[in-house]
Amino acid sequence: MRKIQMVDLKGQYEAIKEQVNSSFATILENSSFINGPEVHGFQKDLESYLDVKHVIPCANGTDALQIAMMGLGLKPGDEVITADFTFAATVEVIALLQLTPVLVDVLPDTFNIDPKAIEKAITPKTKAIVPVHLFGQCANMDAILEIAAKHNLFVIEDNAQAIGANYKNNKDGKLKAGTIGHVAATSFFPSKNLGAYGDGGAIFTNDDELAHTLRGVVNHGMYERYHHDVVGVNSRLDSLQAAVLRAKLPLLDTYNSKRRDAARKYTKALKGIEGVITPETVNGCGEICDTCDCHVFHQYTLKITNGKRDALVKHLADKEIPCGVYYPIPLHKQKAYVDDRYNDSDFPVTNQLVQQVISLPMHTELDDEQIAYITDAIIGFIKN
Ligand SMILES: *Cc1c(COP(=O)(O)O)cnc(C)c1O
Repeated sequence: MRKIQMVDLKGQYEAIKEQVNSSFATILENSSFINGPEVHGFQKDLESYLDVKHVIPCANGTDALQIAMMGLGLKPGDEVITADFTFAATVEVIALLQLTPVLVDVLPDTFNIDPKAIEKAITPKTKAIVPVHLFGQCANMDAILEIAAKHNLFVIEDNAQAIGANYKNNKDGKLKAGTIGHVAATSFFPSKNLGAYGDGGAIFTNDDELAHTLRGVVNHGMYERYHHDVVGVNSRLDSLQAAVLRAKLPLLDTYNSKRRDAARKYTKALKGIEGVITPETVNGCGEICDTCDCHVFHQYTLKITNGKRDALVKHLADKEIPCGVYYPIPLHKQKAYVDDRYNDSDFPVTNQLVQQVISLPMHTELDDEQIAYITDAIIGFIKN
């Protein structure tokens, strides 16, 4: 059996090697490292894949979130509601911009932000909601858009983990994750579903005026050379990364389908085992299916309900099976974000999830032998 890796990107490279190597050679020959034709080409390709009017490439997903908030004109003191159970980047940029983060609890079935908790947290100062489409599946955008419309709030999707996923919106039929709210941010970190060979990110929006603002913000607030109209940042996707992403984008649906294949096999082996809860898919037919495309399994995350999650992590490590605990600490308990405004009892779901979750190896190169080895190891542990 091949050694099991949490993330394995080598097979993807083998398949696009010629294209990537030849694009790299051209970029090196032309020295078009910044803003070369590959960047514009990738932008257009992604706009068409997502069916969104504007993609604004930038340096990474964290920048993308920050730039989206700057472009919306959010001001210090404005409250921004987001999930307690996510990667810290989301809350970090809120705090960096001196906005007030308001963390709320998530739902136990999807790990995504709880619309009821959002409603409870709204005050006259609330200006935006940041749903994170965690682990590859959209948050309940219908409910979130309804709340946002009622209270006149912006919706900024953190789509770092769900690129390519569909969401069945009641009004508009199928929409791609990241094209549902006012603006979205994504990341092309190598391990994401669409990963570069370094850092990269992008912002998406259907709003022409906002897109224009964002294009200036990413480039030092410049709309005309050396005229700085707003305070901006320097955040660029470089040409080499764009070339990799351009080669990979036509394969994204295939990559996501391979992830779903692995997820389906994990679920088939583990569903119904006492003490183990397999992940739910809620936005489509309820199954892990390639027609709905509603879950792209950035992570395949189990809940271990018998109190032995940490022992399982160790057991798997002993068998040379890597795994991850995303995330081990709720954001409201992280030193940087603790605040008197929060009551621990407002986060019952997150507080439980951090004890129960375990993410299994997930990438496009897992084979049946590896998956069987992993699920056998889990079943063996649970039954002992
Ligand atoms: C990866 C990630 C980010 C940040 O992306 P970077 O490109 O690493 O800056 C933000 N939010 C979530 C949910 C992520 O998973």
